[in-house]
Amino acid sequence: MSLWWTFRLYNRYMDAVSSPQHLPYRGRLAPSPTGLLHIGHACTFWTACQRAIARNGTLVFRNEDLDPQRSKPEFARAMIEDLHWLGIRWQEGPDVGGPFAPYEQSQRRALYLETWRRLRDAGFIFPCTCSRKDLSTSAAAPNEGDDEPLYPGRCREKIGEAKAYDSPKGVNWRFLVPDGEALAFDDLRQSPQQFIAGRDFGDFVVWRRDDVPAYQLAVVADDAAMQITEVVRGADLLKSTARQLLLIRALRLPVLAYYHCDLVRDEAGVRLAKRHDALSLRALREQGLTPRDVLKMCAS
Ligand code: GLU
Repeated sequence: MSLWWTFRLYNRYMDAVSSPQHLPYRGRLAPSPTGLLHIGHACTFWTACQRAIARNGTLVFRNEDLDPQRSKPEFARAMIEDLHWLGIRWQEGPDVGGPFAPYEQSQRRALYLETWRRLRDAGFIFPCTCSRKDLSTSAAAPNEGDDEPLYPGRCREKIGEAKAYDSPKGVNWRFLVPDGEALAFDDLRQSPQQFIAGRDFGDFVVWRRDDVPAYQLAVVADDAAMQITEVVRGADLLKSTARQLLLIRALRLPVLAYYHCDLVRDEAGVRLAKRHDALSLRALREQGLTPRDVLKMCAS
């Protein structure tokens, strides 16, 4: 066999073994207990559940109670009750246990700290001492449709000081993004996606000054540790996926498949967010709607 063919076969083999489609399907539901679940969550989680069932896979429930200020145990209890009412079941989670326990992010700090150390040692993150005021008065334009403003880069030069820190406490830690690089991925629901680092999103926070790991770091560490193969979530997180691809590459973690569900909108095209208490699953149920009525609202 020629060297060229050997090379092609080797590449095909590597594609096959690194592709999540060839692993047993593992999906997850990852709600944050910061409010009552609403119709948008119901649609996304129903899709996640159906995709896992269709692939004879495992569904993991992860309680993303990372933020101690905003997470409430009563919302965590309500999430589980409401999803059960809707008819969604999972095989691993805080209520049923499983091989990757604990399934509450508040109990998984050791993993996040280890991830922070790996990023620090490999030179991907820098300590940022900019105050909120520094950032709000910086020239960088706010990033449309995304809650994290573009970081102006002021503390980037501190990347050399990172290794002097034994713990992340006391400053914000940011991932230094490769400016101008296009992060592309094929989403299984949306059209092919592409975001440009430094333009569509800037150096993002991986660990907060108040010593709380940031969403991007925790979710990447957990998806890998729980051997998730496909992420099903709302299309509001598409840009976060691009950020997470950078973390996955930096940490040399396995690639995942992504399915970003369409956002549920009202007749005027306005997104139905968590704030719409009237559309919480609780409220809909109290109004007498059945799970079937609720799921019909997703179909559009
Ligand atoms: N916990 C996040 C949220 O409720 C979603 C995380 C994810 O699916 O990656 O918005």
